[in-house]
Amino acid sequence: MCGVLGVSNIPNAARVVYLGLYALQHRGQESAGIISVDDDEVAHAHRRMGLVSDIFSPTVLDKLPGSVAIGHTRYSTTGSSELSNAQPCVVDYHTGPLALAHNGNLTNAAELKRDLVEKGSIFQTSSDSEVLVHLIARSEAREPEDQILDALERVEGAYTLVLTIGKALYAIVDPRGFRPLVLGKLNDGFVAASETCALDIIGATLVRELQPGEWMRIEDGRVHDLPPLPTKPHRRCIFELIYFARPDSEVFGESVDLVRRNLGRRLAREHPAPGAECVFSVPDSSNAMALGYSEESGVKLEHGLIRNHYVGRTFISPDQSTRTEKVRVKYNPVRGVVDGKSVVVVDDSLVRGTTSRALIKMIREAGAREIHLRIASSPITGPCYYGIDTPTRGELIASAHSVEQIREHLKVDSLGYLSLDGMHNSLTGSATGYCDACFSGNYPIATPDLESEASSVDIPIPAAVR
Ligand code: AMP
Repeated sequence: MCGVLGVSNIPNAARVVYLGLYALQHRGQESAGIISVDDDEVAHAHRRMGLVSDIFSPTVLDKLPGSVAIGHTRYSTTGSSELSNAQPCVVDYHTGPLALAHNGNLTNAAELKRDLVEKGSIFQTSSDSEVLVHLIARSEAREPEDQILDALERVEGAYTLVLTIGKALYAIVDPRGFRPLVLGKLNDGFVAASETCALDIIGATLVRELQPGEWMRIEDGRVHDLPPLPTKPHRRCIFELIYFARPDSEVFGESVDLVRRNLGRRLAREHPAPGAECVFSVPDSSNAMALGYSEESGVKLEHGLIRNHYVGRTFISPDQSTRTEKVRVKYNPVRGVVDGKSVVVVDDSLVRGTTSRALIKMIREAGAREIHLRIASSPITGPCYYGIDTPTRGELIASAHSVEQIREHLKVDSLGYLSLDGMHNSLTGSATGYCDACFSGNYPIATPDLESEASSVDIPIPAAVR
C-alpha cells in the first residue's frame, strides 16, 4: 500500500509535496521519495528508506527545485523493501524526464516483465511499477498520451498513479477504481493526492475525487480531462474505509469517520455483549468504531488501551517474532479501567490474530474479568492482490478456522465479527461497486495463481544493478 501526491504550478513544489507526504505517512512507512521537475525540465530526485520526517531536511528540499513535483510513501506489496524499489521512479524519456508514483498492485506484472526482459528491457528494480515505465517507453504510439494509454491497456489490477512527463502532471485511476485519488486546488496550481487529509495539511481545497477510469493532464494551472479508460465494473476497496485511510479523510465520497462509526453501531446490533461494563478500542484505527459501538449499545466508552505513538504499525514488522514483541511495545492496558470488569474490546479487523492474542493476554493480566472481542469487519479469508499488504492465505487465521476456534485461540469469552452485509450497509455515499474480495473470496480479477503470493512477481535482479 502506498500514498501518492503530485503538485503542479506551485513554486517550491517539493516543499508542498513534503508537507503532503506527512499526511500520507500512514499509507506507507518503509520508504519515501520526491521527484521535482525544474523550469528547464530537469528532474531532481531524493528517495530513502524510512519516514518522511527522517528523509527530508531543508537542505535536501533545496536540492529539489521546480514548480512540478510528485511524491510517494511506500509500503511494499510487490517487490522487496529496499531502496532500489523506493518511488517515485524516474527515467529519461525522449521528450524529457518521466517520473511515476504508483499506489496499487499490478496483477499481471510478472508476465509483462518476463516479456519485456525477453525483448531487451533492463529493469532497475523488482517492483511492479517499473513495468509501467517500460511499457510507456516502448510504446510505438507517437504522442505521450497515446503511449500512456497503450501501457494502461496492457496492465491489469490496481493502479492509482501520479506521473510526470516533462512538466505535464498526469493523475490516473484504473477503471475499477480500487484506490482513491483526489484533486485539489492550491493558489494558481493543482494537487492530486491519495487522500483529502493531504489537501488539508497543505491548505488546498478539494475540487473533486477522480472516478474509476478517469485520468487528466495538469499543466500551467489548467486541468485537461482526458477520455476515460475503457469501462470495467467498479471495485473500490472497502478495506480503505475499514482500516487504511485516515478518519479525517473523505474517500470514495464517504466520510471515513462516519463509516467507521456506522460499522461500530452495526457491530453493537449484531453482536451485543450483555453485562459488559465498558467498551474500548484498539487505538487508533478502531477509535471511531468503539465510539459507534458505545453510542448504539449504551455501554460506557473508556480508554482501556494506551498506544505508544512512537512505534509504527505492527503489521509492518518483517517477521513474526518482532511483531509479537512490538505489540507489547506499542500497547499497554489501563489497569484502573479493566481491573475486575467485563469489557468489550473493539478492533477493526483480525488478520493473523497475533496482535489480538498478545493484547488479550495483556488485558487479562491487567485484571479483566471477561473479555468480549468485537471485530468491525468480516473474517479475512483470503489475501489482497490489489495493493493491501495482507499475508498469504495460510497465515490468515480465518482462512482455516471457525469463529469458535479463533475465539478459543485468542482466549476471549466471546467473539463477534460484523457480517458482510453489515459492512456494506455501513456505507452512506452514492458510490457503488466495492471490492470485498479478502472477506468474500469474490475476486474481481482472475489472477494466474490466486494461491501464490503477490511477491512472486518479485523477480530477482542482478546484484550489479541494485
Ligand atoms: P492481528 O491481531 O495480528 O490479526 O492484527 C490485527 C490488527 O492489524 C488490527 O488491529 C488491524 O488494525 C491491523 N491491520 C489490519 N490490516 C492491516 C494491514 N494491511 N497492515 C497493517 N495493519 C493491519
